[in-house]
Amino acid sequence: MTAGFPRAKSVVFLENKRGGRVNSKTKFLVSAAVHLTYILNLVIKYSRIMIECIKFMIEKELPSIQKNISLAQYTTFKIGGKARYFFIAKTKEDLIKAISFARKSKIPFFILGGGSNLLVSDKGYKGLVIKMRLTRFLEGKNACAEAGVTLNGLVRMSLEKGLSGMEWAAGIPGTVGGAIYGNAGAFGKSMKDNIEKVEVLDIKNLKVKSLKNKDCKFGYRESVFKKNKNLILISATLKLKKGEKEKIKELIEKHLEYRKTVQPLNYPSAGSVFKNTENKRGLTVGKLIEECGLKGKKIGRAKISEKHANFIVNLGGAKEKDVKKLINLIKRKVKSKFKIVLEEEVQFL
Ligand SMILES: Cc1cc2nc3c(=O)[nH]c(=O)nc-3n(C[C@H](O)[C@H](O)[C@H](O)COP(=O)(O)OP(=O)(O)OC[C@H]3O[C@@H](n4cnc5c(N)ncnc54)[C@H](O)[C@@H]3O)c2cc1C
Repeated sequence: MTAGFPRAKSVVFLENKRGGRVNSKTKFLVSAAVHLTYILNLVIKYSRIMIECIKFMIEKELPSIQKNISLAQYTTFKIGGKARYFFIAKTKEDLIKAISFARKSKIPFFILGGGSNLLVSDKGYKGLVIKMRLTRFLEGKNACAEAGVTLNGLVRMSLEKGLSGMEWAAGIPGTVGGAIYGNAGAFGKSMKDNIEKVEVLDIKNLKVKSLKNKDCKFGYRESVFKKNKNLILISATLKLKKGEKEKIKELIEKHLEYRKTVQPLNYPSAGSVFKNTENKRGLTVGKLIEECGLKGKKIGRAKISEKHANFIVNLGGAKEKDVKKLINLIKRKVKSKFKIVLEEEVQFL
């Protein structure tokens, strides 16, 4: 039965010393432990070989891949541990290569835009983070922006070309891809109003396809992309119209000024933590949180902003777990005082 397994010294020792007085149950247990240890060692050895193989494949197929990269620097919250693997995709081909590789190697992957709506775990991410840096803006009958173009860059380019429609987005950090994913919006407008169609990569078959505005199933901070993680945004054809540069500029400045007065922009954050869905009290989420007496509440180095209670700010060195505790505290208090269940807008990694 034990053929092929090394005979453990401890078993021999027990037999010799006690001259067969060891009962069979103890013998069985010791022998089982020895076999288990042997099997465990084999599993560990096999896993190490597998890890080495994966490492080798990664370096061969994605030479510019980086390892153990701090994600905090790629988020506006400045919070989060390291990504085991990190790859910057500058073209559609880069993106396809990285995703097909991750799937082949069975490594989980995550698409990162501007990291402005993200709370990253202190433990980091044990997979491949693909940072979208496809940043082309193409003019034509309809302007087209790649997913890695920043929203602010898009606003600036629209102004330069005298195109109106994106003014509401001035001051929102992040990328076009991230904004479509969450249907980002402000001042009564959202990405839904500016999208003609999008180009997506379907990771099921690695095919690129086009989706019309209505196929994106936009809702308040919602889209089909939040539900169907198989679809990665590559680019968007925009609905913009010719406008007067002076008027466009004026509106952009007005929006930027408003943001400065109501948002705590001097601290790292991820914007509004909770969705501002309508509630029976008719109050904004910020007001609900304020009414619970939570403005200024601190846990560790994370604080509920005094300027805007739907913002949690990083005072410097805040941890994900501090922010999570504040989020849970807010949810608990708002539920018990108003019987309203808040839903997070911020995404977790
Ligand atoms: C100071 C401040 C103010 C803000 N104000 C607003 C505001 O007024 N309105 C508003 O709506 N938001 C606001 N936000 C939140 C945030 O800027 C937006 O939600 C933004 O659109 C997120 O884009 P991102 O590229 O940073 O996405 P990320 O944070 O990088 O990612 C968010 C999610 O999108 C997914 N994603 C990103 N790119 C792609 C892609 N190409 N394909 C598929 N999935 C993708 C990610 O996987 C992730 O799940 C604010 C944030 C800050 C810090």
